Amino acid sequence: MKILALLALAIAAPAAGQTEPHYEMRAAFDPSGALEADVEIVLPPGTREKTFLLSRRFELRGVMLSGASLAGVTAAESPVEGLYAYRFVAAPEANGPMRLRLLYGGPINPAEDNGVRPLRDDGFELFIDHMWFPVGADIQTRFTLDAEIEGLAPDLVVVAQGEVTRGPTSVRIRRDYIDIDIPMVAMRGLERAEAPGVEFFSRDLGTRLSTFYIRHSEGAARYFERWFGPLAQTVRMAVVWRDRPMAYARTGYTVFSEGGRSAPDYPESGAARHAGHEVAHAWWMLASPITDDFWLVESAAEYCAIRYLETALGAEAAAEMIEEKRRVSADAGPVMGHGRPNRVQLYQKGPLLLVDLERRIGRPAMDRLLAEMAREPVHTTAVFLRLLTGVAGAEVAAAFEQALRS
Ligand SMILES: [Zn+2]
Repeated sequence: MKILALLALAIAAPAAGQTEPHYEMRAAFDPSGALEADVEIVLPPGTREKTFLLSRRFELRGVMLSGASLAGVTAAESPVEGLYAYRFVAAPEANGPMRLRLLYGGPINPAEDNGVRPLRDDGFELFIDHMWFPVGADIQTRFTLDAEIEGLAPDLVVVAQGEVTRGPTSVRIRRDYIDIDIPMVAMRGLERAEAPGVEFFSRDLGTRLSTFYIRHSEGAARYFERWFGPLAQTVRMAVVWRDRPMAYARTGYTVFSEGGRSAPDYPESGAARHAGHEVAHAWWMLASPITDDFWLVESAAEYCAIRYLETALGAEAAAEMIEEKRRVSADAGPVMGHGRPNRVQLYQKGPLLLVDLERRIGRPAMDRLLAEMAREPVHTTAVFLRLLTGVAGAEVAAAFEQALRS
């Protein structure tokens, strides 16, 4: 019986002075698309309660707790549908950290296809939206990771964060830096290209689109390093073949979709903006995705992408993009004041507010402001306004906040 085998695994010891959550994952896929997982989460000492979300398509096989008890299980439909929320509280007498070990299994593919199925004909693409591991309910819980994943056919090329060691049918992923996700692409036929600070994977490195992405990922990495300081991690980028064009970035990791972009007339400016945006997330990913501060992730990355576009392809290319954003966002409504902004507010209007701010305070002040902000450990609008006050005065900061809210 599987559970007994899993129980025999040793429980990891926490690092001394642990200040961030740590995940130990043992998982196995089978060819039919079933996942069996055993995840132990060690929370930093002093944590009194914590809620995790996991997709309801997984059946809980066992829960083992140390220093904690399970206070409740409720159905949850946010930020995606079909979740269970598991709420744990620290045992009153406990003096060590809370350790939560969850064993669960079920189909890796959700019943509903949202255009990014985790398991497809050419392999796996997994990330947080699939809710395939216990995700902190604030969607902001960052953790270090040691994962051992079995059941990956030898011809799957694995792209993941951190130190990635491939066995014949397994992969070990050790990530000593924190992030919110366990993202992984394991696809057949991926080729690899490398530039300083950037690794690039695609099943065809010779396409027009791959050529653009490689050129501009490297170009954007260099440009932003001059602005914000060295990249903390090599950025691994994978192009996956699916219709849905959605791309996303985590620390040192980015996924692009081919998504119909390999048409012979696909403009280089599109790929340059796209690569610039995703590389910029190396510095712009520290605001909560479920609050109105999220403009500091997407609008900031998009503004930086416009700046990269200007450097790489000229002022006219940037001006065209700004014009297009003005057209699309004319009726966008306020970026802030109503929870997480919508797509038009995040990607069209938000960056324009930053373009307008730059015009008001001048580029040198804008560059200083963003460089200071990029060094902040947590990105909130309040922090941004404080730094803006320092750079350009209280009146400018008040006017910018007003613009975010109108
Ligand atoms: Zn983004």
